[in-house]
Amino acid sequence: MNRRAMFLEALGIPAEWVPRKEPAAAEALIAESTVMVDAMEAVERAEALESADIAVAMELDQPAAVVATVPHMPVDMPDVHDAAEIAQTVEAFDAPSPAAAPVIPVLRQSTPAQDDREVAIAAMAWPTLSESVAGCTACGLCSGRTNTVFGVGDQQAEWMLVGEAPGENEDLQGEPFVGQAGKLLDNMLAALGLARDRNVYIANVLKCRPPGNRNPEPEEVAQCEPYLKRQIALIKPKVIVVLGRFAAQSLLRSTTPIGKLRGTVHSYEGIPVVVTYHPAYLLRTLTDKARAWEDLCLAREVHDREGTQA
Ligand code: SF4
Repeated sequence: MNRRAMFLEALGIPAEWVPRKEPAAAEALIAESTVMVDAMEAVERAEALESADIAVAMELDQPAAVVATVPHMPVDMPDVHDAAEIAQTVEAFDAPSPAAAPVIPVLRQSTPAQDDREVAIAAMAWPTLSESVAGCTACGLCSGRTNTVFGVGDQQAEWMLVGEAPGENEDLQGEPFVGQAGKLLDNMLAALGLARDRNVYIANVLKCRPPGNRNPEPEEVAQCEPYLKRQIALIKPKVIVVLGRFAAQSLLRSTTPIGKLRGTVHSYEGIPVVVTYHPAYLLRTLTDKARAWEDLCLAREVHDREGTQA
């Protein structure tokens, strides 16, 4: 078995998944899968994985201590990763097909003052929006930040990626998705022929770092989301890829687990949304990389379809 076939098998990409494309397209898909898999492998082996335990816990919506003790999914694969990494794969994530899973809506109430603020933000152009975020004190996260993290990329992008909130490195550098998770994200983008400075824009739901990387509070999301909403309205992407459980549930007003939000196309402000796992989580969870690649392929299908309809 050649290396490409070994990786595809190891990552659990089944044969029946690939032939959904025409033969030539399927070959291209396999080749691109290999590019992504190789890129991920290189990143994984390059450096230590500082944030992975937190990421796994966040994706599973459980404390890290609980994640470490849940039963392992039976995994039959070549020994291409260390046992500790494979051990992070848990039964809780082997969810059934999400296609028919309903989204459980989360209702929010806003105050008149919030409504007025949202109206004002919704009218801002890029410079005003950027300045407003940089000086924002609308929630308590402003007190602990080093920098706001506004977003980065092409303001006319057809692709938009949305994560949760800045972490420590992002707070220090003022840019989303830096460090190991950022490298993996860049490689995922490269597999799609994208880069963060070319035809993609990357932003978070929250522009300031929650202390200790804790989960954002609903009030913080309520105060900050108008900025993201305005960014999306200005960019008008053809597809939004949401990275991770929290960002997906915030954007889609949902409490549905990420495993059931994946695999189907949602909508935010009329723009198609595809949900996938957070790169920090993928750094530690071998089998879900194949699922993430399926998600990106779905996003590409959506993007291409939107392109032909434009
Ligand atoms: S998180 Fe958002 S709403 Fe809160 S202070 Fe930062 S920019 Fe303002």
